Amino acid sequence: MPALAVDAAATVAHAFTTCDAAARFPAAPLFAPAAVVAAAAAAADKPDVGAAAWSADLSSALYNVDGWGAPYFFVNDDGDIAVRPHGAATLPGQEIDLAKVVARAAGPSAGGGLGLPLPLLVRFPDVLRHRVESLNAAFDYAVRSTGYGGRYQGVYPVKCNQDRYVVEDIVEFGAPFGFGLEAGSKPELLLTMSCLVARGSPDALLVCNGYKDLEYVSLALIARTMGLNTVIVLEQEEELDIVVEASRRLDIRPVVGMRAKLRTKHAGHFGATSGEKGKFGLNAAQILSVVSKLKALGMLDCLQLLHFHIGSQIPTTALLADGVGEAAQIYCELARMGAAMRVIDVGGGLGIDYDGTHSAQTDMSVAYSLEEYAAAVVAAVGRVCDRKGVQHPVICSESGRALVSHHSVLVFEAFSASAPAANIDSATAYLLDELTDDCRNDYRNLMAAAVRGDFETCALYADQLKRRCAEQFKEGVLGLEHLAAVDGLCEIVARGMGVAERPRTYNINLSVFTSLPDMWAIEQQFPIIPIQRLQERPAIDGILSDLTCDSDGKVDQFIGGRHSLPLHELPSHGTRGYYLGMFLGGAYQEALGGLHNLFGGPSVVRVSQSDGPHCFAVTRAAPGPSCADVLRAMQHEPEVMFEVLKQRITDDGATAAALARAFGAMPYLSFGGSEVSLESSGMSSDSEGSAAGAAEDDDDEWEFMRGLTV
Ligand SMILES: *Cc1c(COP(=O)(O)O)cnc(C)c1O
Repeated sequence: MPALAVDAAATVAHAFTTCDAAARFPAAPLFAPAAVVAAAAAAADKPDVGAAAWSADLSSALYNVDGWGAPYFFVNDDGDIAVRPHGAATLPGQEIDLAKVVARAAGPSAGGGLGLPLPLLVRFPDVLRHRVESLNAAFDYAVRSTGYGGRYQGVYPVKCNQDRYVVEDIVEFGAPFGFGLEAGSKPELLLTMSCLVARGSPDALLVCNGYKDLEYVSLALIARTMGLNTVIVLEQEEELDIVVEASRRLDIRPVVGMRAKLRTKHAGHFGATSGEKGKFGLNAAQILSVVSKLKALGMLDCLQLLHFHIGSQIPTTALLADGVGEAAQIYCELARMGAAMRVIDVGGGLGIDYDGTHSAQTDMSVAYSLEEYAAAVVAAVGRVCDRKGVQHPVICSESGRALVSHHSVLVFEAFSASAPAANIDSATAYLLDELTDDCRNDYRNLMAAAVRGDFETCALYADQLKRRCAEQFKEGVLGLEHLAAVDGLCEIVARGMGVAERPRTYNINLSVFTSLPDMWAIEQQFPIIPIQRLQERPAIDGILSDLTCDSDGKVDQFIGGRHSLPLHELPSHGTRGYYLGMFLGGAYQEALGGLHNLFGGPSVVRVSQSDGPHCFAVTRAAPGPSCADVLRAMQHEPEVMFEVLKQRITDDGATAAALARAFGAMPYLSFGGSEVSLESSGMSSDSEGSAAGAAEDDDDEWEFMRGLTV
């Protein structure tokens, strides 16, 4: 082989590896504060800066943790993500290290862990309490500081997260404020009724939204006889007839609200329900018609609440004030016409700053705080009512996203990653020398251009070389080894010329469809970052690819306008233990997620701050749905399937046991000994097709299991 080729390749490869392209990632234009980010990016850009020059603070700035995470999430001195369970009121010893929670939840029981398979949803009820209290405090302050004559009495729309413990917590934490619930369907109404009866304040409102039939309305009326403060909100004019009919049949007088269709329009994705063409609510003519019907029936005193909903993620307080002002005018009109108006319900829309920019530039960000939101609502209602001489109403909001988004973190593992292009060795160089003459010409021209630093010519020849080789491969002239060698060469040359390395693909043990449905369905972005090793420089650009056999099952858009995420090299010894967290996903994601490829939900733990330095308590733990559970959801009968398969088993029982284990395990990848027991699958190798129930979490076993983390 000609020495020239080998030398050139070797020289090029050597020259370019010092230019550690993997250390480079683009600065994020949207990240704030800009100066710190620039510093972080600059440090990351320096090819020769070692891990020692990096710090937890630089990671915090790089991922903008303070922007979207404050006051709950931060990077601690160990380089782990930690949680301040009581927000800014958290004392230094009360912080909870998320990596330690994961170690405790997923670790083997022999080491004191709970042996829960990942993915893992970690709920923090303390954060939920802090959200409920902050929302009420914000409105309380706005009311007191402006001399507003009414009070705030919110409801939680359970649509955002119907998990039993989430709803129970909110009702319990909200009871001192008379905080209530909102339902939008019959099962939601059933759960809100029972939860409010069991632990709600007697003052709490139960707002009934959504499309209604006679059954729904009857249930809402029956709730009134149980002492619940139910308001039936008319979303359609026809619903009035149903309410009148049910009320007559049951002889229960209703309290009625009306959902107004506002002209104020919220232009973002979440504003599709607003404006004149919106899906819900009554327009001016319909409102007048309902009023005159109620009057004719002698029921105008039943009309007590006005509701509207501009849409989720209201971007600015200017838009909010505009909508609330319009609604307050309608409220005053209804009072003028003789309705016994008492409550103005401003709906949902209190937004979350997913990208932490406080910019309102995209649907992912809102430009106000809780306090500013409350102040804008109270001021707008007060102003209109004062002008019209109408008594200040009780202000209700249906803030869902704002209450539950922060309370949970989804933790999942990146278990492998695509490898970077290797350097060219002499064997590869030898392969390049075997190319046909025309290919070798391209190759020489490519190298010459590379040495000259002529990037454009380089790219041209690289492209031509690749195309020519592909053609010759199809003709059978070249082998797979030649193709691979040429691809590798072109990649190294591109890297050397300063072309940003293509992001590597990190495979994650998760289903985007099940756990991050909005990411797939509406391209919503949530902050995703490694939860450990943040004192090390994340030197690799990665995108995330999930377990489903679906090309949409990936994450390649990240907050801050990034198309890749700075990540660390996976542990070289084996591939375990690199965990990522998805944050601010406590609203909507759980109930929206499906069973694509039959991947079910994650394991769940509830973690509370507990006394003692750096102590936390795992107060509840449950593995996610097993293979048997997800099969059942599709009408398969795991017990019968097991019996059918058992017919073909020839050995003494080891195979049956393995089969039963497969039914009992979660659908996700399991690396090294899942600890979910056979019993939890509802079948064991000797069960004779017993129709035992789904995996029942044995709560007591986990109750108050303390995790000392020092
Ligand atoms: C979805 C919804 C809410 C909750 O909205 P958020 O933006 O999550 O606060 C409130 N009210 C109604 C009528 C809704 O449809």
